[in-house]
Amino acid sequence: MRYLTYNAKTFRNIEYMRYLPEEVKQEIEIVSKVIPFKSNNYVVDYLIDWENYENDPIYILTFPNKNMLREDQYERVKRAVDQNLSEDELYEVVNSVRLEMNPHPAQQLTNIPQLNGEKLPGVQHKYRDIVLFFPTQGQSCHAHCTFCFRWPQFTKQLDLQFSMREIDKVIEYIREHEFVHELLFTGGDPMIMSPAVLSGYVDKVIDAKIPNLDTIRFGTKALTYWPFTFLPSYNEEAEEMLNMFRRITDSGMHLSIMAHFNHPVELENEALQEAIANIRETGAQIRTQAPVLNHINNSSQLWANMWTKQVNLGLVPYYMFIERETGPYEYFQVPLAEVYNIYSEAIRLTGSLAKTVTAPVMSAAKGKVQILGVVDNPLDGKKYFILQYARHRDYSKTFKPFLVEYDEKATWVDQLTELVPNSI
Ligand SMILES: *Cc1c(COP(=O)(O)O)cnc(C)c1O
Ligand code: SF4
Repeated sequence: MRYLTYNAKTFRNIEYMRYLPEEVKQEIEIVSKVIPFKSNNYVVDYLIDWENYENDPIYILTFPNKNMLREDQYERVKRAVDQNLSEDELYEVVNSVRLEMNPHPAQQLTNIPQLNGEKLPGVQHKYRDIVLFFPTQGQSCHAHCTFCFRWPQFTKQLDLQFSMREIDKVIEYIREHEFVHELLFTGGDPMIMSPAVLSGYVDKVIDAKIPNLDTIRFGTKALTYWPFTFLPSYNEEAEEMLNMFRRITDSGMHLSIMAHFNHPVELENEALQEAIANIRETGAQIRTQAPVLNHINNSSQLWANMWTKQVNLGLVPYYMFIERETGPYEYFQVPLAEVYNIYSEAIRLTGSLAKTVTAPVMSAAKGKVQILGVVDNPLDGKKYFILQYARHRDYSKTFKPFLVEYDEKATWVDQLTELVPNSI
């Protein structure tokens, strides 16, 4: 299958778009000025049910729609488009809307480590054991998710260019921090890089034989947005990618693919299943993660089915995330209380091997905070959430449960009232 990328202009010409009424196409064109839109022929041809596109999870996941903007925001952009403004003038309007959508939730701008007094802009080191690396050529994706918390980096205007090419410096940094055990390649999606480019980074890490480094991870959505990356029968570069995986596992390091799946429909087709088998054959493990999203997957039965299917395919369910407050989050948001219900009911419905997934997690400013439960306190007759930092900037604060007042409507940790000061 030949790889075709679609953007707001080209998708109009795709045959499948006959299902889309003209006004919807126009809507997409307007909203996509604000929310980055990119798709490809695999996502469009294989994952979306065009006859029922309005409710199709992958359609909603990749095609921006009018409800993702406030009405006044939509009108502002539409007016600017209708007026045929110059590109600069149009982008001024578009950018003013983007800036209203909390493009850089606090912590993205911090965590930049230094090596010998020099900042490493493509590296994040927030938690003790693990370093994140953002290679320059991996800062896009095969398709862009409408809910993505990293959406600003897909726009020229908001991109802060936190990426780099100098893997040697990353290697030296890891060597100097002996408690770092894991290196996570992230983006965007590192799997949009050709195996030749990606190997350029990875082989240096393997050859460096850093004594404290025992795991390499790739955060990716390539398995569901372009599984041909791992299918030699379709793609001549795939064998090279799989061979690179083998070099990692042969070196004695663990390789974990952190695969992003939002909906069970992504697990259904054969291309994906073959890709999974090929990856596992290299000795790599695949772990899965996804946020709970309104309009996409806010159902406990759906999560139970998804985790069960994943386990059957040899994947390990890992994280369930809570959607961050950026981009069109109001459209996708699910209250914490409901997320917890979805999680706890789903986990009760699964077999034991699918219970590896951790309680729902918010990636907040200080760390990853989990919702462990909801309790009724018989002493004061009130309800509480039990929270816990599974990861914290300050290592000593991890895995210590604490209580906050239950709030049916709250959608993020900063809206909660703590019982003991400074526990959040
Ligand atoms: C989630 C995350 C990681 C990886 O965390 P694990 O819990 O080890 O999977 C690393 N760094 C940052 C900044 C993160 O948000
Ligand atoms: S694949 Fe991940 S990084 Fe890429 S757009 Fe989707 S959520 Fe964002």
